[in-house]
Amino acid sequence: MIPRRPSYEGISLYSPPSVHCRVDLSDNTNLFGMPPAAERVLREVSTSVVSRYPQTYAPELKKTLASYTGFDASWITTGCGSDDLIDCTLRAFLEPGERIAVPDPSFSMLAYFAKVNGLQFVPVRLRPDFDIDVDGLLATGARLIYVCSPNNPTGTVVSRAGLERLVDAAPGIVLVDEAYTEFARESVVDLVRSRPNVLVTRTLSKAFGLAGLRVGYAVGRPELVAEVEKARGPYKHTGVSERVAIAALTEGLSWVKERAEEIKESRKRLVEEFKALGFQPLPSEGNFLLVPLPGAPQVAARMRERDVNVRAFQGLTGVGDALRIACGPWPMMETALQALRESLR
Ligand code: PMP
Repeated sequence: MIPRRPSYEGISLYSPPSVHCRVDLSDNTNLFGMPPAAERVLREVSTSVVSRYPQTYAPELKKTLASYTGFDASWITTGCGSDDLIDCTLRAFLEPGERIAVPDPSFSMLAYFAKVNGLQFVPVRLRPDFDIDVDGLLATGARLIYVCSPNNPTGTVVSRAGLERLVDAAPGIVLVDEAYTEFARESVVDLVRSRPNVLVTRTLSKAFGLAGLRVGYAVGRPELVAEVEKARGPYKHTGVSERVAIAALTEGLSWVKERAEEIKESRKRLVEEFKALGFQPLPSEGNFLLVPLPGAPQVAARMRERDVNVRAFQGLTGVGDALRIACGPWPMMETALQALRESLR
């Protein structure tokens, strides 16, 4: 008999539909690829980087992230993707049995991380304007409140005034997920300086084009970061990921910024194309659009037959059925629009 942990019964693994299509717009990664400077470093990395352990707690990467963000390295921790930082943050600040409040809809992995950490997951519906329900989140009494901005899957951003009110009244930590911040008008990361209870997570998986390397980071006061590092463990990246991430954050930065601008331009054009087709995409500040569309799963299945993969949602709270489509090079967007038009017929 396997000595199973009772609270782990019924946990199923994260399994997004994995399909191979020529055009894959399903996971909001950088459709332009990775920064050439980072690719060069990847090809030239010396074998000792693989045969030896990396330095514990990734000091070089933290130093580079410090220059990039303008925070001291003691305000930064890193993880195996921002997924890992979210997981570590929950473990660092909450005991099993405690509550975590999460807007609905939002990043689907939160329910999973809550479960594997033995937490009570409390969803709080977004307001009709897709901003967070500050009073609803506070009313849960949760000592950890998660907010995603721009929010996956809606693409909408949290209002600064609402977030400040939430942070100031929250009984514990507010974890702000800025995985898509490079595509947004503004970041709220400065709140970590003025407020003692805010931690912001970010990632190199989206704008930086390094999803396969699994590098994320969090910014917060050193006291908060120190707690997350206890839950994190010493080795979270490979030496290779560290080297490539550092290259992307330095030599590769202008490439990242230029591609982010192109992606925002694609997003704008795509909104117009959807409107011309009679759809109303949600106002997105991420590198993706959420388009409410009844029967979205069936439409997505027909698009896959045309070699285009987009993410379909069924009965999303406050939205209904919808397609989530990553924005990227315009020719890809045209292929997707053509597949959509044919799939709607
Ligand atoms: N947060 C949000 C909102 C996301 O959409 C994702 C990726 N799907 C992540 C975090 C995790 O990304 P990663 O672990 O690759 O950094």
